[in-house]
Amino acid sequence: MSIERTLSIIKPDGVKRNLVGQILSRFEKAGLKIVATKMIYMSRREAEGFYAVHSARPFFGELCDFMCSGPVVVTCLEGQDAINKNRELMGATNPAQAAEGTIRKDFSLSIGENTVHGSDAVETAKVEIAYFFAETELVN
Ligand code: ADP
Ligand code: MG
Repeated sequence: MSIERTLSIIKPDGVKRNLVGQILSRFEKAGLKIVATKMIYMSRREAEGFYAVHSARPFFGELCDFMCSGPVVVTCLEGQDAINKNRELMGATNPAQAAEGTIRKDFSLSIGENTVHGSDAVETAKVEIAYFFAETELVN
């Protein structure tokens, strides 16, 4: 285990339902540090680029529409084993299969509107953080 950085996104359903504070608080309580955070409106193009790996999936259009349907909160988290720790806090993609006490189990509405995004590996985390934050925006 090493100190890692990961990208979290609180998706439009989470922001709309006033869950930003509660979700960021879960990260902090788990020992993850916020090294950058901001609220943005993702453009359709940004959403398509961010989820490019899923472009052939049947839900791609719906996913991109959803991600730019309202503001999102993008956050860079840092800590011991941050990538897996964040994925554990999030729970399974489908909230119906998410473990008790996870963000998706507690808050998510459906497999599409599942409240949070989290990077899944060191390489993707690097790309995803750089997608939204300049190096100078990340606190050391
Ligand atoms: P995760 O966000 O857990 O890493 P994926 O990378 O597999 O999950 O999928 C990216 C996002 O696409 C999911 O978080 C969810 O919003 C959406 N998604 C995934 N599978 C489906 C599906 N079967 N139907 C609708 N939306 C989906
Ligand atoms: Mg994913």
